[in-house]
Amino acid sequence: ESVINRIAAGEVVVRPANALKELIENCLDAGSRSVAIMVKAGGLKMLRIEDDGHGIRSEDLPILCERFTTSKLQKYEDLQGIGTFGFRGEALASISHVAQITVTTMTESSQVASMAQYSEGHLVGPVRPCAGTKGTTIVVENMFYNNPTRKQALKESLEHSKVLEVVQRYAIHHPSVAFSCRKASGAAELATAGSSPSAREVIGTIWGQGLAKELFPFEVKSEEPRFSCRGFASGPNYSSRSSTLILFINNRLVECAPLKRAVEAVYQPVLPRHQHPWVYLALDVDPQCIDVNVHPTKMEVQFLHEETISLRLQEALAGQLRSLGTS
Ligand code: ADP
Ligand code: MG
Repeated sequence: ESVINRIAAGEVVVRPANALKELIENCLDAGSRSVAIMVKAGGLKMLRIEDDGHGIRSEDLPILCERFTTSKLQKYEDLQGIGTFGFRGEALASISHVAQITVTTMTESSQVASMAQYSEGHLVGPVRPCAGTKGTTIVVENMFYNNPTRKQALKESLEHSKVLEVVQRYAIHHPSVAFSCRKASGAAELATAGSSPSAREVIGTIWGQGLAKELFPFEVKSEEPRFSCRGFASGPNYSSRSSTLILFINNRLVECAPLKRAVEAVYQPVLPRHQHPWVYLALDVDPQCIDVNVHPTKMEVQFLHEETISLRLQEALAGQLRSLGTS
């Protein structure tokens, strides 16, 4: 059983950045205003994520990393949502099959914090009281200790940049949350104030004012098929040698290759050869329309009406670019 679990977990948590994405989403679900991340060896040695959210009750700790443990099924809409981004309660379980997890957490109503350690889906040793403040700190250590082949295939520097990329993206999508990320041995590589009213400011902090001032806001609403999309896109005066599409669908960071190609195609006549745009899109679609076969920790998604939605986004982007080009 444990071998099967480990293989299954290794298929969804393929690199530290996948795990971090899930851990960040949990912080946000817990209502955190601040999320501080520390990384050792690209996350392979350690990922530490500290939030100031509502915490986890100590009585919930013993089964925290078992499969399907979730506190997020209270509402009927949530039950419907099950069919969308996969099952609930799989992220911590999956991570615990490829790494060791230590959780320190405290709720508002508790006098002391609690600490618990996990491996292979189970609690290791007792839940212990300890000092702490309201919120949760999760430390993930020795990722892929039980999969040397995987571990060797990963390069620390690349993994570190992937980790940082995930933090940057969530920071943009949540301008009112203070995100920070640093290497265990160094100063912060990223720190957002958490008080920005708009993503534009955070984009400026992270990517530089050069990009921020070339961005235009972007908004599309549609009834048939029903979706809405907002974001920021670079204008004709900005270009880069690599293309960036930051895509959130229903508040989850995802990738969608066809949509990325569609966005790039709009810029092709506008930008010089081999130059690419920077686009951030927050797309909201009916949860029922997202492919049920996509596991929660997988990045690539498919969704219903993908082509129609892509076309509408293309039209809107192209219209904006045209008006910028002629003004
Ligand atoms: P899910 O998020 O789908 O419920 P996870 O495996 O990601 O499943 O997390 C399991 C449960 O652990 C969550 O439902 C939540 O109750 C709790 N949890 C995990 N991380 C945090 C956190 N940072 N703050 C508060 N609760 C958390
Ligand atoms: Mg989760």
